Amino acid sequence: MHLDRRGVLFVLSSPSGAGKTTISKKMLASDPAIALSISATTRPMRPGETDGVDYHFVDVDTFKKMAADGEFLEWAHVFGHRYGTPRARVEELLAAGKDVLFDIDWQGAQQLYQEAGPDVVRVFILPPTMAELERRLRARKTDSDEVIAARMARAANEISHWDGYDYVLINDDVEGCFDEVKAILRAERLKRRRQIGLIGFARDLIRSVPEADPTL
Ligand code: 5GP
Repeated sequence: MHLDRRGVLFVLSSPSGAGKTTISKKMLASDPAIALSISATTRPMRPGETDGVDYHFVDVDTFKKMAADGEFLEWAHVFGHRYGTPRARVEELLAAGKDVLFDIDWQGAQQLYQEAGPDVVRVFILPPTMAELERRLRARKTDSDEVIAARMARAANEISHWDGYDYVLINDDVEGCFDEVKAILRAERLKRRRQIGLIGFARDLIRSVPEADPTL
Protein backbone atom coordinates (compact mmCIF):
# COMPACT_ATOMS: atom_id res chain seq x y z
CA MET A 1 0.00 0.00 0.00
CA HIS A 2 1.29 3.48 -0.84
CA LEU A 3 1.01 6.26 1.72
CA ASP A 4 2.53 9.72 1.44
CA ARG A 5 5.76 10.08 3.39
CA ARG A 6 8.51 12.61 3.98
CA GLY A 7 11.63 11.97 1.95
CA VAL A 8 14.82 10.71 3.59
CA LEU A 9 18.01 12.75 3.23
CA PHE A 10 20.44 9.83 3.15
CA VAL A 11 24.07 10.76 3.72
CA LEU A 12 26.81 8.28 2.86
CA SER A 13 30.30 9.26 3.97
CA SER A 14 33.59 7.37 4.09
CA PRO A 15 37.25 7.89 3.43
CA SER A 16 38.04 7.41 -0.25
CA GLY A 17 38.64 3.74 -0.98
CA ALA A 18 36.22 2.43 1.64
CA GLY A 19 33.62 1.57 -0.99
CA LYS A 20 31.18 4.46 -0.77
CA THR A 21 31.08 5.13 -4.51
CA THR A 22 30.39 1.46 -5.35
CA ILE A 23 27.61 1.30 -2.78
CA SER A 24 25.99 4.57 -3.81
CA LYS A 25 26.01 3.47 -7.47
CA LYS A 26 24.37 0.17 -6.52
CA MET A 27 21.72 2.00 -4.52
CA LEU A 28 20.88 4.37 -7.34
CA ALA A 29 20.75 1.54 -9.88
CA SER A 30 18.54 -0.71 -7.75
CA ASP A 31 16.07 1.79 -6.32
CA PRO A 32 14.25 4.37 -8.48
CA ALA A 33 12.86 6.08 -5.37
CA ILE A 34 16.25 7.53 -4.44
CA ALA A 35 18.23 10.06 -6.48
CA LEU A 36 21.68 11.56 -6.07
CA SER A 37 22.31 15.12 -4.98
CA ILE A 38 24.84 16.48 -7.47
CA SER A 39 27.33 18.72 -5.72
CA ALA A 40 29.09 21.75 -7.10
CA THR A 41 32.86 21.77 -6.77
CA THR A 42 35.83 23.93 -7.63
CA ARG A 43 38.15 20.94 -8.06
CA PRO A 44 39.24 20.11 -11.61
CA MET A 45 37.33 17.43 -13.51
CA ARG A 46 38.99 13.98 -13.50
CA PRO A 47 39.15 11.72 -16.55
CA GLY A 48 35.89 9.83 -16.91
CA GLU A 49 33.82 12.46 -15.10
CA THR A 50 30.98 14.39 -16.73
CA ASP A 51 29.94 17.90 -15.82
CA GLY A 52 26.39 17.92 -14.46
CA VAL A 53 26.47 14.16 -13.77
CA ASP A 54 29.31 13.61 -11.28
CA TYR A 55 29.53 17.23 -10.18
CA HIS A 56 28.78 20.71 -11.40
CA PHE A 57 32.31 21.93 -12.02
CA VAL A 58 32.50 25.66 -11.32
CA ASP A 59 35.25 28.24 -10.78
CA VAL A 60 35.94 29.75 -7.36
CA ASP A 61 34.14 33.04 -8.13
CA THR A 62 31.00 31.25 -9.30
CA PHE A 63 31.10 29.05 -6.18
CA LYS A 64 31.51 32.04 -3.89
CA LYS A 65 28.59 33.81 -5.54
CA MET A 66 26.39 30.71 -5.22
CA ALA A 67 27.32 30.48 -1.52
CA ALA A 68 26.65 34.21 -0.96
CA ASP A 69 23.27 33.87 -2.70
CA GLY A 70 22.28 31.06 -0.32
CA GLU A 71 22.16 28.47 -3.09
CA PHE A 72 23.84 25.77 -0.96
CA LEU A 73 22.22 23.63 1.71
CA GLU A 74 25.76 23.11 3.01
CA TRP A 75 29.26 23.64 1.71
CA ALA A 76 32.79 22.95 2.92
CA HIS A 77 36.46 23.03 2.05
CA VAL A 78 37.60 19.48 1.34
CA PHE A 79 41.22 18.73 0.37
CA GLY A 80 41.87 22.31 -0.70
CA HIS A 81 38.76 22.68 -2.87
CA ARG A 82 35.24 23.85 -2.22
CA TYR A 83 32.30 21.44 -2.40
CA GLY A 84 28.64 22.32 -1.89
CA THR A 85 25.16 20.84 -2.10
CA PRO A 86 22.82 22.92 -4.29
CA ARG A 87 19.56 23.47 -2.45
CA ALA A 88 17.28 23.62 -5.52
CA ARG A 89 17.78 20.03 -6.73
CA VAL A 90 17.23 18.60 -3.25
CA GLU A 91 13.99 20.56 -2.88
CA GLU A 92 12.80 19.45 -6.34
CA LEU A 93 13.54 15.78 -5.58
CA LEU A 94 11.78 15.91 -2.22
CA ALA A 95 8.77 17.64 -3.79
CA ALA A 96 8.66 14.83 -6.37
CA GLY A 97 8.43 12.29 -3.53
CA LYS A 98 12.00 11.00 -3.82
CA ASP A 99 14.62 10.27 -1.21
CA VAL A 100 17.96 11.99 -1.76
CA LEU A 101 21.40 10.41 -1.52
CA PHE A 102 24.35 12.62 -0.51
CA ASP A 103 27.96 11.62 -1.08
CA ILE A 104 29.43 14.30 1.20
CA ASP A 105 32.05 14.47 3.93
CA TRP A 106 31.61 14.73 7.71
CA GLN A 107 31.41 18.53 7.57
CA GLY A 108 28.55 18.29 5.08
CA ALA A 109 26.80 15.63 7.15
CA GLN A 110 27.03 17.88 10.20
CA GLN A 111 25.72 20.98 8.41
CA LEU A 112 22.92 19.09 6.70
CA TYR A 113 21.87 17.72 10.07
CA GLN A 114 21.80 21.24 11.50
CA GLU A 115 19.71 22.36 8.53
CA ALA A 116 17.26 19.46 8.17
CA GLY A 117 17.64 17.50 11.46
CA PRO A 118 15.13 14.65 11.64
CA ASP A 119 14.92 14.19 7.86
CA VAL A 120 18.64 13.32 7.74
CA VAL A 121 20.06 9.81 8.11
CA ARG A 122 23.86 9.67 8.34
CA VAL A 123 25.73 6.51 7.41
CA PHE A 124 29.50 6.15 7.65
CA ILE A 125 31.41 3.34 5.96
CA LEU A 126 34.67 2.14 7.48
CA PRO A 127 37.29 -0.02 5.77
CA PRO A 128 38.07 -3.31 7.58
CA THR A 129 41.73 -2.28 8.05
CA MET A 130 43.95 0.61 6.96
CA ALA A 131 46.09 -1.88 5.03
CA GLU A 132 43.02 -2.92 3.02
CA LEU A 133 42.16 0.73 2.38
CA GLU A 134 45.68 1.32 1.05
CA ARG A 135 45.45 -1.82 -1.08
CA ARG A 136 42.18 -0.58 -2.62
CA LEU A 137 43.67 2.86 -3.31
CA ARG A 138 46.71 1.25 -4.98
CA ALA A 139 44.50 -1.07 -7.04
CA ARG A 140 43.01 1.98 -8.76
CA LYS A 141 46.45 2.62 -10.25
CA THR A 142 45.62 6.31 -10.62
CA ASP A 143 47.73 7.82 -7.85
CA SER A 144 51.44 8.19 -7.08
CA ASP A 145 52.90 7.01 -3.73
CA GLU A 146 52.81 10.61 -2.54
CA VAL A 147 49.14 11.02 -3.38
CA ILE A 148 48.34 7.69 -1.72
CA ALA A 149 50.17 8.74 1.46
CA ALA A 150 48.17 11.99 1.46
CA ARG A 151 44.91 10.07 0.94
CA MET A 152 45.76 7.73 3.82
CA ALA A 153 46.37 10.70 6.14
CA ARG A 154 43.06 12.24 5.06
CA ALA A 155 41.33 8.90 5.55
CA ALA A 156 42.55 8.76 9.16
CA ASN A 157 41.21 12.28 9.69
CA GLU A 158 37.85 11.45 8.08
CA ILE A 159 37.54 8.28 10.20
CA SER A 160 38.08 10.30 13.38
CA HIS A 161 34.58 11.75 12.79
CA TRP A 162 32.85 8.34 12.79
CA ASP A 163 30.85 9.14 15.92
CA GLY A 164 28.94 11.97 14.22
CA TYR A 165 26.90 9.40 12.29
CA ASP A 166 23.69 7.48 13.01
CA TYR A 167 24.98 4.22 11.52
CA VAL A 168 28.57 3.01 11.09
CA LEU A 169 29.22 0.03 8.83
CA ILE A 170 32.41 -1.94 8.20
CA ASN A 171 32.83 -2.75 4.55
CA ASP A 172 34.68 -6.06 4.52
CA ASP A 173 32.31 -7.45 1.89
CA VAL A 174 30.65 -5.06 -0.52
CA GLU A 175 27.47 -7.13 -1.03
CA GLY A 176 26.98 -7.51 2.72
CA CYS A 177 27.56 -3.82 3.27
CA PHE A 178 25.13 -2.95 0.46
CA ASP A 179 22.47 -5.16 2.10
CA GLU A 180 22.99 -3.31 5.37
CA VAL A 181 22.65 0.07 3.67
CA LYS A 182 19.41 -1.09 2.00
CA ALA A 183 18.07 -2.34 5.36
CA ILE A 184 18.80 1.03 6.97
CA LEU A 185 17.02 2.92 4.20
CA ARG A 186 14.06 0.56 4.35
CA ALA A 187 13.63 0.92 8.10
CA GLU A 188 14.12 4.68 8.00
CA ARG A 189 11.44 5.00 5.31
CA LEU A 190 9.03 3.14 7.60
CA LYS A 191 9.54 5.41 10.61
CA ARG A 192 6.21 6.73 11.81
CA ARG A 193 7.17 10.41 11.63
CA ARG A 194 8.02 10.04 7.92
CA GLN A 195 4.73 8.28 7.13
CA ILE A 196 2.65 11.41 6.99
CA GLY A 197 -0.07 9.51 5.12
CA LEU A 198 -0.67 7.44 8.27
CA ILE A 199 -2.52 10.29 9.97
CA GLY A 200 -5.39 10.19 7.49
CA PHE A 201 -5.19 6.44 7.07
CA ALA A 202 -5.54 5.70 10.79
CA ARG A 203 -8.28 8.34 11.13
CA ASP A 204 -10.25 6.71 8.30
CA LEU A 205 -9.81 3.26 9.86
CA ILE A 206 -11.23 4.54 13.12
CA ARG A 207 -14.07 6.43 11.45
CA SER A 208 -15.06 3.43 9.39
CA VAL A 209 -16.31 1.68 12.53
CA PRO A 210 -19.85 2.85 13.47
CA GLU A 211 -20.15 4.30 16.92
CA ALA A 212 -21.35 1.72 19.42
CA ASP A 213 -23.72 2.24 22.29
CA PRO A 214 -21.34 3.16 25.19
CA THR A 215 -23.63 1.54 27.75
CA LEU A 216 -23.21 -1.91 26.24
P1 5GP B 1 36.17 13.79 -4.62
O1 5GP B 1 36.92 15.03 -4.98
O2 5GP B 1 37.09 12.60 -4.42
O3 5GP B 1 35.04 13.49 -5.57
O4 5GP B 1 35.48 14.05 -3.22
C1 5GP B 1 36.23 14.41 -2.13
C2 5GP B 1 35.38 14.46 -0.88
O5 5GP B 1 34.44 15.54 -0.95
C3 5GP B 1 34.55 13.19 -0.64
O6 5GP B 1 34.72 12.82 0.72
C4 5GP B 1 33.13 13.64 -0.87
O7 5GP B 1 32.24 12.90 -0.07
C5 5GP B 1 33.20 15.10 -0.46
N1 5GP B 1 32.12 15.88 -1.09
C6 5GP B 1 31.63 15.77 -2.33
N2 5GP B 1 30.63 16.66 -2.54
C7 5GP B 1 30.47 17.33 -1.37
C8 5GP B 1 29.57 18.36 -0.95
O8 5GP B 1 28.71 18.85 -1.68
N3 5GP B 1 29.71 18.81 0.32
C9 5GP B 1 30.65 18.30 1.18
N4 5GP B 1 30.68 18.79 2.41
N5 5GP B 1 31.51 17.32 0.81
C10 5GP B 1 31.41 16.84 -0.45
